[in-house]
Amino acid sequence: MRILVTGGAGFIGSEFVRGLLARGPDRVTVLDALTYSGNTANLAPVADRGGYTFVAGDIRDIDTVDQVMPGHDVVVHFAAESHVDRSIDGAGPFVSTNVLGTQVLLDAALKHGVGRFVHISTDEVYGSIEDGEWSEEQNLAPSSPYSASKAASDLLALAYHRTHGMDVVVTRCSNNYGPYQHAEKLIPLFVTRLLQGRQVPLYGDGSNVREWLHVADHCRGIELVMHKGRAGQIYHIGGGTELTNRELTGRLLDACGATWGSVEHVTDRKGHDRRYALSIEKTREELGYAPQVPFDEGLAQTVAWYRANRGWWQPEGGDAPVIRG
Ligand code: NAD
Repeated sequence: MRILVTGGAGFIGSEFVRGLLARGPDRVTVLDALTYSGNTANLAPVADRGGYTFVAGDIRDIDTVDQVMPGHDVVVHFAAESHVDRSIDGAGPFVSTNVLGTQVLLDAALKHGVGRFVHISTDEVYGSIEDGEWSEEQNLAPSSPYSASKAASDLLALAYHRTHGMDVVVTRCSNNYGPYQHAEKLIPLFVTRLLQGRQVPLYGDGSNVREWLHVADHCRGIELVMHKGRAGQIYHIGGGTELTNRELTGRLLDACGATWGSVEHVTDRKGHDRRYALSIEKTREELGYAPQVPFDEGLAQTVAWYRANRGWWQPEGGDAPVIRG
């Protein structure tokens, strides 16, 4: 299969590409604009593989996308502005890349008869939930400009299925963690700062709850959806470990050999969602999805990776903005 992966130089996209090329016969083209969060070093382990092509280009650029798209069987669309805090500071790039960029890709995929379009999205499109879990039928109620732009792109992707009969599938995942994640996001921000003996900023009272899933489990779920998902459907990828930010901070302090004296309480994020929770029943029953990485093991491996790969994050770790993913 020939697969076009947008945003393949980012955190999750690069895990997906490394996995595909390490395992299988698929040919992979990465289209990535290499924004601040894209890094070709993330793809270095597979750079010499046959069947791998990297194109530096913007998904909003109609001509570039039109040149790259032909000949691909599947598009897996990760490219996005992905950091909530940045979207609070300025929503323009989020609407531009996440909404308009998605539309450019959908149009090109339609024009060139691409077999399947896998649109990667997030649990944040649902807003916040006090108790229970969301099903894929839940109405969207995004809180941040980031999640609103993702919700808009999800709806656009699904509209291309309804209007044009395009084979579109949408995935929505919970918070990811793992190696190669930019140091602006909560786990790598805390780890890289603690490893340098610096303070870490905890939003509000730290009681906000997130579900943490290892990036390898997310990519396992995406592959299942890519191969077996039904056209026009949404699939949740979750089943991670639910923790308050305070509990997570405690685990990270332990993992890095630091104490609560390293934690600085900072004013809460504007519009901060309290809790996200996805039901994965549909993805489990239809596609046989089940997460495999136990949180403690995955977190220990992740911290070990940041310890062992200082050269990857050191230039940016010092300047990373105040957080959270
Ligand atoms: P990331 O910020 O690490 O990577 C984004 C990638 O997209 C980068 O390589 C960047 O260079 C590229 N990019 C940005 N704008 C582009 C443009 N205009 N044209 C081409 N490339 C562009 O993000 P991530 O954490 O890997 O997230 C990937 C996808 O998964 C996003 O769509 C995000 O919404 C979704 N998602 C992320 C999480 C999470 O916890 N990180 C959870 C659920 C869903």
